[in-house]
Amino acid sequence: MVLVVKQYRCMHSPTCLCTKGHLSEDVIFLVFQRLNWNPRMIALMSCVCKWFDDIAKRVLWKEFCRTRAPKMMLDLQSSGSHSVDGNWKALGKLLVYCSGRGLFSRIRVPGHFVYRTRFSRTSGKSFLIPQCRTDVLYVSDPCEHLDQGEQGDVGFFRGVFVSFSVSRVRKMLIDRDAKLHPTEVCPYCKAKLWNMLQAKMIPRSASCRLGAYEDCVEYYVCLNGHMLGICTLLPLSDSDEVSELE
Ligand SMILES: [Zn+2]
Ligand SMILES: [Zn+2]
Repeated sequence: MVLVVKQYRCMHSPTCLCTKGHLSEDVIFLVFQRLNWNPRMIALMSCVCKWFDDIAKRVLWKEFCRTRAPKMMLDLQSSGSHSVDGNWKALGKLLVYCSGRGLFSRIRVPGHFVYRTRFSRTSGKSFLIPQCRTDVLYVSDPCEHLDQGEQGDVGFFRGVFVSFSVSRVRKMLIDRDAKLHPTEVCPYCKAKLWNMLQAKMIPRSASCRLGAYEDCVEYYVCLNGHMLGICTLLPLSDSDEVSELE
């Protein structure tokens, strides 16, 4: 692979910031296709080369999202809410990274990669109050972090709105004059965050969907429509445990 890569070094790009020369965009595409758009590799390379980071933002993260969440991608693209460069990187990170602590200072759980997460539009409905149910929101299953001291079993979940800029949720947050978090930002795109609990916009159906205690669900939505939340999970019932073991 290294040999092939060297042969294709592009020698005529005066704007390149990478001091060791670089590959043509087509070759990068093919190499990463072979790597099945490995997100760790994309993230790593983006840190060391600005030229690569630009391709990653425009092309690689988009392909990554398309491979991992094809249905959701169709929705996001057809609505036009994810046509701008740069959004793909945030979405890619959202797909594979549980952000853990940060926002939720009462709990200390480091962020981590997750191998595979299911995002569901049907699930998303449970997180919208009745007045906003026409919005489209994709939400993941909770990432379970068990035995977190006093907090017990904790679940982190994340999601993304389709066409957030024209959503009812956004309009309602603005109409209600909901406050943005003073310091914390979205771990995926660095935008400011609204606290949905403070805005009283978390329906009871959210805790049912998560399998969490009713008053222990909290989530935030950023200005770009990414959602992240935390809940305290109910203990598994005996019958659940049996079916887990089967
Ligand atoms: Zn997690
Ligand atoms: Zn965001």
